[in-house]
Amino acid sequence: MIKFEQVSKTYPGGQTALSKVSFHLEQGEMAFLTGHSGAGKSTLLKLISIMERPTVGNVLINGHNLSKITRNQIAYIRRDIGMIFQSHQLLMDKSVFDNVSLPLVIEGHTRKTIAKRVDAALEMVGLKDKARHLPIMLSGGEQQRVGIARAVVNRPPLLLADEPTGNLDPKLSMEIIRLFEDFNQAGVSVFIATHDLGLIARMKYRTLTLKQGKMITDGLDQDEEERL
Ligand code: ADP
Ligand code: ADP
Repeated sequence: MIKFEQVSKTYPGGQTALSKVSFHLEQGEMAFLTGHSGAGKSTLLKLISIMERPTVGNVLINGHNLSKITRNQIAYIRRDIGMIFQSHQLLMDKSVFDNVSLPLVIEGHTRKTIAKRVDAALEMVGLKDKARHLPIMLSGGEQQRVGIARAVVNRPPLLLADEPTGNLDPKLSMEIIRLFEDFNQAGVSVFIATHDLGLIARMKYRTLTLKQGKMITDGLDQDEEERL
């Protein structure tokens, strides 16, 4: 699903964000990506979503080497990735329904298909009765769930989340992670960047740790990580 081969990323300003990072995330896997602020988590996710390009090394998504794809292929590869951000980036003057339907509208689906799929996505995140609300009328946790519904509405096989629980208390954070687990159990690959070690400790998932751009642990249990 995702494969990094000796990937380094140096920004034009000279800042090295990632250094010789290699890992492989299998189809259907759920994993966390952690590390302190500035460790390179966002950069790693941006390389997967093709918002940034590696300086050296190969990033492969579903067998496509991202260094060798054409401009036209980028849109197709991005369609297979549902992205969730800390600031959920909702359109505040549009209803929950309109926010969630956006990816389908862009893909040019019929109104009937759009209504059906948005309904299903809102059902999954438990917000079916709030379709006509504006995001401003929802709580922080609910707004994040609208962002998740929007990310899954076109049924991507991969979900990428960048600090999805950053603004939420521990209980709501756990609810969001449970939601990711539901999607994972339905076969979706899930990759979550977070610096919330407490949250990770409560889960039993593979954890990749970045430190100053280097991958220092991959899949070790929490006790071993703390010793490093
Ligand atoms: P994290 O998500 O773990 O906080 P980032 O990937 O955002 O880490 O940042 C890794 C390093 O790369 C940091 O030193 C940061 O300052 C730098 N960096 C991130 N984005 C850019 C950019 N667009 N231009 C220059 N440097 C950047
Ligand atoms: P939380 O305790 O998680 O912050 P809130 O107290 O903000 O949640 O909201 C609780 C419920 O009340 C939510 O389901 C939300 O949709 C509803 N709600 C909050 N503010 C408004 C509002 N201004 N108009 C209508 N419904 C609202």
